[in-house]
Amino acid sequence: HPDTDADVLIIGAGPAGAAAAAWLARAGYRVRVLERDHFPRFCLGESLLPACMEDLSRAGLLDSVQRGGYQVKDGAAFTRRGREATVDFRDQPGPGWRHTYQVERADFDQRLIHAATGQGVEVEFGVTVTEVHPDHRRPRLTRVDQHGRTRVLTARFLLDASGPGRVIARRLSLARPPRLAPRQALFSHVDDGIRDAAFDRDKILIAIHPREAGVWYWLIPFSGGRASLGVVGDPAALARHGDTAEARWQALLDAEPRLRGLLRDARRRRPLDELQGYAAAASRLHGPGYAVLGNAGEFLDPVFSSGVTIALRSALLAAPLVARRLDGEAVDWAAAFETPLRRGIATFRAFVEAWYDGRLPAIIFHPRQPASLRRQISAVLAGYAWDRDNPFVRAPNRRLTALARLCGHRPSAEGTP
Ligand code: FAD
Repeated sequence: HPDTDADVLIIGAGPAGAAAAAWLARAGYRVRVLERDHFPRFCLGESLLPACMEDLSRAGLLDSVQRGGYQVKDGAAFTRRGREATVDFRDQPGPGWRHTYQVERADFDQRLIHAATGQGVEVEFGVTVTEVHPDHRRPRLTRVDQHGRTRVLTARFLLDASGPGRVIARRLSLARPPRLAPRQALFSHVDDGIRDAAFDRDKILIAIHPREAGVWYWLIPFSGGRASLGVVGDPAALARHGDTAEARWQALLDAEPRLRGLLRDARRRRPLDELQGYAAAASRLHGPGYAVLGNAGEFLDPVFSSGVTIALRSALLAAPLVARRLDGEAVDWAAAFETPLRRGIATFRAFVEAWYDGRLPAIIFHPRQPASLRRQISAVLAGYAWDRDNPFVRAPNRRLTALARLCGHRPSAEGTP
């Protein structure tokens, strides 16, 4: 098809774009990725889930990731008012991966897209896609380079992997208000200085504010003594802790005993950053000549580190379908892409809702969980949110409500510690 600029044009070189591009290039298609930034660039989404290792492998990117020297992750530790609990991915049943990594995304994303170029993907950095023109046969997009030069590019299929850029959702009015309440995150990177021998760097640490159930912290250790540190909550709740972001950050970190102890000697490596209203939803994730991947479609919440896993799953669901389309087959995008993708997103959403209304903390901190249920929950939190054999995937809300009740959670106490 010499009359097109590529078989597939992909907007964005984050994990979703890189994985879809790598898969399609390995299958022999001409793929071009258009990326607004220059890499390496900072990005949130540093704690991965074991399930995403399968998709990295299918995209031909896992070897490269395994050579990255990243901090291993085999679970998550939780703390609230001095009590500790862990979710260990090595507990989960079934043949799935039991570990993954905690990664600095500047390095990780550069590594992924570099590996994709090694497989034949063409990438342009510093170009912004400003318009999309859907079409069953010859979809097009408009892109602007750093000098303001505009060009229209033609392909046989478009994939939007623009993350929060949400190019297609915005241009085609597919954006919908998300179901989750708006929240705010304050975050930075630190040289963590942690010397506590009991601290397990192979797990992220999620801490809940001792008095405000809706405010929680992440500590994601990296290799090399660095870590990502953040605090999340309802914007009004965070605002009560100080007049400036800096004052809130200090007050909130001082309030949590475990983090205060661990991070006594920590030094900040980046300026404090903040982000608000990051949850996103879209009314549809495919249309004439296009599909929407990862955060460009939907984003839930950072608490269970599902973002990159969903982004990679969307890429690996879409890429083989794009190939079939390009080979002249009819593809039912609703049945083969959007419905299965949304099923996993719905599982994670049920878990996120149960986190904020107190059901999941009641389960996680309960001292005597039956081992079989702990394993099933552990599997979802490892990212196996599409495994219909797991009762917590088939009916997450009902199962979590019933189990939380057994763990002493009362609906009247929702949202309180
Ligand atoms: P991105 O990684 O955002 O990549 C999109 C790319 O598209 C970017 O490089 C961008 O420059 C480019 N782009 C945007 N607009 C345009 C345009 N118009 N033209 C060309 N290029 C464009 N996820 C996890 O898995 N684990 C976590 O621990 C985690 N923590 C998080 C904490 C917070 C506070 C937030 C908000 C998110 C977190 N996430 C986490 C989510 C994670 O950041 C995303 O899910 C993930 O980065 C999505 O990958 P993606 O490939 O869809 O998009």
